[in-house]
Amino acid sequence: MSAQQIALFIAAGVAIWVYTDAKKNNYSTSASIGWMLGVFMLMIIFLPIYLVMKAKRAKRPVMSTSCEFCRKQYFGNPNYCPHCGHLVRKI
Ligand SMILES: [Zn+2]
Repeated sequence: MSAQQIALFIAAGVAIWVYTDAKKNNYSTSASIGWMLGVFMLMIIFLPIYLVMKAKRAKRPVMSTSCEFCRKQYFGNPNYCPHCGHLVRKI
């Protein structure tokens, strides 16, 4: 195995870890794939950004609630469901 292949291997491994970790942290599938590709292609740039964002998100836990109307999950405490637009804010 050449050094280049090993580097590619490591990049792929880290990219897959970022993908599964992003999914666990409530990123959407497309966002997780974006992180994965970013880390795979430009690990030097995207991995530190990802880890900083991860630390920030960990500090303020995002509450996930499922919408009473469309049953999809949304995060935080919005006035309206981001999926179906129903008023969801509890008063
Ligand atoms: Zn909804």
